[in-house]
Amino acid sequence: MSNVSVSSSGSTGPRGRGRIVGVPKRCWCGEEIVALISKSDSNPCRRYYRCGFAAKHRLKNDEHTFKWVDEALLNEIDTLKEKNGELEQELKKVKTESLEIEKIVCEKVQMKIEKEIFEKVEDALSEAKGSTKKMMIVLVIGCIIMIGFNKLVG
Ligand SMILES: [Zn+2]
Repeated sequence: MSNVSVSSSGSTGPRGRGRIVGVPKRCWCGEEIVALISKSDSNPCRRYYRCGFAAKHRLKNDEHTFKWVDEALLNEIDTLKEKNGELEQELKKVKTESLEIEKIVCEKVQMKIEKEIFEKVEDALSEAKGSTKKMMIVLVIGCIIMIGFNKLVG
């Protein structure tokens, strides 16, 4: 089988229980989070969030919350971006839905208008038919009378 390399996720991320996304509010141990400034050589003056308990006891290689402030803020921005995207999609959905509803309403109104017009036209037609029938009847009767009159005379 091929050697599929699985990238180890987040080696720079906070170690320990669960990945914290965004600014941590409280450590899993229940302790408040404090913001500190790193004095290490690798990250001098870099601000980070730390579990208050771990900071007080100067714990090292522990499982308490540790997160760089800049990373946390980047997470927050990412989450906001994601939310924005979701909102945009939601808005688009609502827009298309309302457009569809408008279309349906329009179609219904149009159908109603068409139906009304059709009914009116039919009424007019049947009326016209009636009057032409009457005219025909009058004409036929007239003819018969004329023929009869002619016969009488002739
Ligand atoms: Zn803690």
